Amino acid sequence: MRVVEPTGPFVLRVHELEQGENRLERVGNGVDLALDAAFIRLAGLVVLRLVIYRAGDHIDVQGTVTATVDLACDRCLTPFQRVLEADVRVFAERREIRDRRPLEEVREDDLGIVYHDGRFVDLTDDVRQVLLVELPWQTVCRDDCRGLCPRCGADLKEGPCRCGEREVDSRWSLKSGSDPGGSRREGDPPANLG
Ligand SMILES: [Zn+2]
Ligand SMILES: [Zn+2]
Repeated sequence: MRVVEPTGPFVLRVHELEQGENRLERVGNGVDLALDAAFIRLAGLVVLRLVIYRAGDHIDVQGTVTATVDLACDRCLTPFQRVLEADVRVFAERREIRDRRPLEEVREDDLGIVYHDGRFVDLTDDVRQVLLVELPWQTVCRDDCRGLCPRCGADLKEGPCRCGEREVDSRWSLKSGSDPGGSRREGDPPANLG
């Protein structure tokens, strides 16, 4: 059976790690991480900064991954960029250690643990996962983005459009004395978003 060796910038070679503390930086791209370009668009490189403590075959990896992504505002469609930054924390030990332990113990401990064969510690999956978790659920160019007017399509960041003015005017005439600034108009994003 031919064993495929892991490759890419986020694969650590165990023999290159000193006993004790190692500091290193790895730089990769969306292809290295097998990121689907239709789902996440990187605006540059993915930078991984690591502090690694090695004691024998136990390898404790702490680090930060940083990447800039291209996004489009959900409300006004304006393209913008956002820097994603996430912690990476991996404890790697020899695969043989796992195989000697009872199955229940392996299951309990497996979170955050990767197993290595004495040659490679592959952080690629961990880097991909922490980046995807950092992607915002809702992408807005700024928290108070008012989006596009549903009637005329005007970008309401640029100021109120004419249809908004007319609507406010009509309500003022119906509800005199109410605070016009505090009332919500049709087409406004819900106040609790962002
Ligand atoms: Zn926007
Ligand atoms: Zn309008």
